[in-house]
This record gives sequence, C-alpha cells and structure tokens, in this order.
Amino acid sequence: MQIARVALDVPLHRFFDYLVAGQDALTAADIGCRVRVPFGRRSKIGVIVDVLAESEHPLAQLKQVEEILRDLPALPADWFRLTEFCAAYYQAPLGDVMLSTLPAGLRRIDPPKARPAKPPGKFPPAQIAPALTTEQQDALARIASAGEGFNAYLLHGVTGSGKTEVYLRLVESCLAAGRQALLLVPEINLTPQLEARVAARFPEAGLVSLHSELTEAARSRNWRAALEGRARIVLGTRLAVFTPLPALGLIVVDEEHDASFKQQDGMRYSARDVAVFRARERGVPIVLGSATPSLESWANATDSRTRGRYILLTLRERAVENARLPAVQRIDTRLEKLQDGLSGALLLAIEKRLARGEQSLVFLNRRGYAPVLACASCGWTSRCTRCAANLVLHLADRRLRCHHCGFEDRIPKACPTCGNQDIHPFGRGTQRLEEVLAARFPQARILRVDRDSAKSRKQWEVLVEKIHAGEADILVGTQMLAKGHDFPKLTLVGAIGPDAALFAADWRAPERLFAQLMQVAGRAGRAALPGEVLIQTQFPEHPLYAAMVRHDYPEFAAQQLKEREQAGFPPYAFQAMLRAEAPQMATALAFLAAARAWPEAPAHGDVMLYDPVPMRLARRANFERGQLLVESPSRRALQVFLPAWLSAISAQKSPSRLRWHLEVDPLEF
Ligand code: ADP
Ligand code: ZN
Ligand code: ZN
Repeated sequence: MQIARVALDVPLHRFFDYLVAGQDALTAADIGCRVRVPFGRRSKIGVIVDVLAESEHPLAQLKQVEEILRDLPALPADWFRLTEFCAAYYQAPLGDVMLSTLPAGLRRIDPPKARPAKPPGKFPPAQIAPALTTEQQDALARIASAGEGFNAYLLHGVTGSGKTEVYLRLVESCLAAGRQALLLVPEINLTPQLEARVAARFPEAGLVSLHSELTEAARSRNWRAALEGRARIVLGTRLAVFTPLPALGLIVVDEEHDASFKQQDGMRYSARDVAVFRARERGVPIVLGSATPSLESWANATDSRTRGRYILLTLRERAVENARLPAVQRIDTRLEKLQDGLSGALLLAIEKRLARGEQSLVFLNRRGYAPVLACASCGWTSRCTRCAANLVLHLADRRLRCHHCGFEDRIPKACPTCGNQDIHPFGRGTQRLEEVLAARFPQARILRVDRDSAKSRKQWEVLVEKIHAGEADILVGTQMLAKGHDFPKLTLVGAIGPDAALFAADWRAPERLFAQLMQVAGRAGRAALPGEVLIQTQFPEHPLYAAMVRHDYPEFAAQQLKEREQAGFPPYAFQAMLRAEAPQMATALAFLAAARAWPEAPAHGDVMLYDPVPMRLARRANFERGQLLVESPSRRALQVFLPAWLSAISAQKSPSRLRWHLEVDPLEF
C-alpha cells in the first residue's frame, strides 16, 4: 500500500494522506506532482509533498487518490523550501500557500481546454546595447568581482541613470552562463515597455511575462515554460516571485521601494523580501533597484550595524549625454492668493511651455472632481454610509463614489438634510484641475491620466501613445503618470498640494511622498530639453523639500532613519499587526483584547503587545475594524512568539461575524 501526502488549499496547518491504487506505482519522483483527490463531497487539486509506506491515520479512513497529474515536471525542491519559508514567516497555512502560488488554470479540476499558443510574433529588431557609462561599468564590475553565489545589491540610481541597462547586462551574463533570470516589476502597466526592451535585446531567450491580467491559459502556459526551463527570462509582477525556475541564476527587483510588491490580502507577503530569501536560498545574486529605495533596504546597505548585508551601488548621473536632472524649486503658497489652487509661477511656467510647444505635467495625487460635497448652511457632507469616509465627487459621470468600498450614489440636487440647493464641492481632485486648466488655457490640449481615465491597460496604453505622439500639451495626473515613462517633450512638472503627507498620522507617508515627488520630477527633461519642477507648498523650509531640491535621497533617508530610530519604528523594530473586523467595533476590540490577554504573552519579554485600537479608517463596507500592534526589536523573538500566539488565538471561539487576520511586516497603519 502506498500513501501520498498531499497539500491542499484549505486553511488548516496540516497535510492530508491518500491511498494510491496498486497499478499507479508512486515513487519519490512524484513528489511535487499535482494530484486530484476527493475532499468532502468534491474533488480538489493538490500537490504531493511526500510518498510514504504508512500513515499515522487508520488505513480504513483514508480515501483513494483519483488521479496523479504527471503532465508537468514535478515542482522542484527549492520551490518547496520557498513556500515553506513563506508559510512560516507569514504565519499562513502551508497547503494554502503552496496552491495559491500555482496559476489558477493548474489548480482547476476541469481546466478550460488550452488553445495552442500563438506562434511567436516576429522578433523585434534586435536592439544594440549602448556603450556603458563609467558609473554603469563600475556597478557591473563590482558585481562581477563578487563572483557567483548570493549577494544582495542595492542599485541606487537617479531616474534616467541607466539602471535598466545594468539589469540587461546582468541578464546577458546570466543567459551566457546557461541560467534563467527573474525580473520583477511593481505594476502591470510597467511590463509592456520593459518586455519590449528585454525582448528586443534577447530575442532568443523565450521571454515570458507573468501577471494577473494574462488569461488563465496564457499564465499556465508561461509558467510551464519557466518550469520546463524553456523560458530563460521571466518578467512579472509580485506573483511571479514564486515561479519555479530550475536554472535560476539572477533576480532583479525594479522599483524595489514600491508598495505594490506587498500583497494586501490572503497571504500578505512582500515579493521583494521573498525574492531576497529566494536568492539567498538558491545562492544567486539579487539586485534591488530604485531612485528612492525603501528605508529598510537603505538601512541594510548603509547602516553601520547592518553594513555589508546589502552592497550599495550608486548611479549619480543621467546616462544620456547632456541630460541633466531637473531644477527643483519650491513655491511658497503662503505669499500669494492661489488661482483655483494654482500659483502665478506655475501658470506662467505652463504658458512658456505652451509657447515653445513643450509638455507640462500637473501632479495631484487625488482623483475625482472634489474629495467631498458639502452644504454650507447645515454642514452636511457626502459620507459613505458603509465606511468612515467621504464620498468623492466624480463630475465626469455625475456620481458620488467611495474610494474604499466602491459604493456609488447619484449627486443630490439639494442638501439631503436641509433642502438647501446650494451645495458645493470642497477641495480639488484631478477632474477639477483639468477643468480649471481648460478654462485658463482654452487653446491647450489637456489630458487627464488617473485610474478613472486609464481603467484598463488598453486605455492606459492609448493615453501613453497620445502623450508620446505629442497630442497633449498639459497632462494632469496622479502618481500613475509618475512611473517609468520617458516623455521627451515633457519639460515642466508642477506638484499641487503635496503638504498633507508631511504631517500624516502614518509615519511612512513622508517616505512615500519623497519617492512620488522624485519619480514625477524624474519625468521632466529626460532628453535634450532641460526640465523644471515646481513644488507648491506652505512649508518650503521643510527638510524633505530641501532634500528634494538637492536631489539628495541619502540626506532625506538619513533624516528619516534617525527619526525612526528615535521612535523605535522599523527598520529598527519588527512588527506584526493583528486585525479584526465585525459589525460592531466592540466585538472587534473584545476579540483583540482577548488575544492581548493571552496568559503566556507577558512571558515573551522581547515582544511587546500594544492596546487594541480602532483602525484609522475605522469602518469599511459596514465592518468596524480594530487592530493590535505586536512589536519586537528582534525579528527572531517575534518569529518565535507569533506561531504560539496564533494557535492560541485560533483555539479561541470567535464570534460568527468576526473576521481576523495577521500581517507580518505591515506597511499601512
Ligand atoms: P533608469 O532605469 O535608471 O530610469 P534607463 O535604464 O531607463 O534609466 O535609462 C534612461 C535612458 O538612458 C534610456 O533612454 C536609455 O536607453 C539610456 N541609456 C542607458 N544607458 C545608457 C548609456 N550607457 N549610454 C547612452 N544612453 C543610455
Ligand atoms: Zn444642508
Ligand atoms: Zn464606502
């Protein structure tokens, strides 16, 4: 009798044993194959994690495997180690983790019949590599001198400094050594352009991409090409970090600071951190690249106590000859009356661009027309009935919309409370800015780029195409516009109202603001035309802006890290967040309080449990939400504490309408 031990996607910290009928001889080579097994009243797809001669369960209770799926090579041993690490580190059930990393098409009982892959399109014209700048050469030489094996590099390079070229040279060596390269980018929107660039450089490498917008069949096909070793380069978003790669030789994480690498539901993992673990475990180099690294990575590369954990490589200059970093200026908005939120200096600068046939970008990180609709006579404001948040006014399609739960409503003709007809939008979003600019510059062609105007990737590509073709004079956009695009005629960037982030309760807000501003600033003046950046602020003396003006990320990072250290925040502490939500706040907080009162908690001296508190957005989609922060100066102490604590919490009987989860290394508070 043979027994297959099987991982299934169920929220239990255990595997399941099944009998294998005699004729279907099972060998150790089947470990890592998928199987179809009966589970409850249905069948499920699982992964064989072990082959045994006997089970600790009575044989009579075991069911039979329905089918062993040997259509793919077995998942390799390092894939098991990777998923085991994630399950342990993020405190998630292993079977769930394993199955969730497979493409949906391979987890289905009846996968849709895969159509044969389209024959590869004609190869793009092979792109010739430019001669490297001295800084690029130095960075590559440093990596080469370290030889093979694991090393983590932090490639800090200003926008346009040629980081991508460094990645491509590393990929080239990796391919020459007969290995596979894994490139991770934060957003789907960024894949097409990098894909084109990589495919043009390495037309024979069988490049595949992996992200959530692919059809199920395409994702299975690409994943399979990676597993079978046919795809020598895999380019993808965070989920691609789990792709099995038998000949992995290099990992690159571009824009490593980007919050999109963090998964926000299910297993809340950081693809960047998982990538670093994977590189170490496989003994291959990993390069984390950014113009504004995360402070965690920066500390790993520069802090004297951790120095040597990451190797810092720096590109200070733009790669294209004569391309300068844009001049950044602060406009003190206390000194003048703004015209619909726009300063005289910014308006004048836009006018000059219009006269010269260049493009301007006005950056405002708030979509919609106005953040709230309000009645001046009784104080009514448009609130979401399901969340502790305002409904945002969207004039383009005449709706009030909640950006947290998706709730929508018509715009009322009069105040719902007092009947006053004179209700007004307060504040400003991108739609309103677009309207203001259109009134001010009637001759200009204005293009708004945000998540409303670029809902799908197709719409986004059309917008980018228009900008490239010079069919827009003024761009109005959110941070969506900030990422990774070269617009050669763009020479002016104006940032409207960035101040809110300076004093936000979320202590990571300044880090995000600095990264966003540096990124939008990086859009200006990429080609021969010099760029200019104007920041409208009421706090021109703020050190964050002072560092911006000097393009001095290291200075900014040093300020922030000092504050973090004094406050005992990450990266000088390690955190986990237990969150609970229920129809009543009292229920959620009581659950958290019971978890906090776990009798053994105080025994773990190095781990501190804070008091349960309502979340900043205390109600979302009719659920009241609370959280409990767990913190330790020692990652190890936290990792020892969490599993024991979690099993105690799981053993508690929790109210039926309460949901809870634990997040390790939370990014948002
Ligand atoms: P980053 O990723 O750092 O923002 P890119 O790699 O996209 O920068 O490079 C910016 C621009 O500089 C691109 O147009 C690229 O083709 C060009 N470039 C990169 N390296 C060189 C080089 N060594 N010589 C000339 N141009 C270069
Ligand atoms: Zn009213
Ligand atoms: Zn809502």
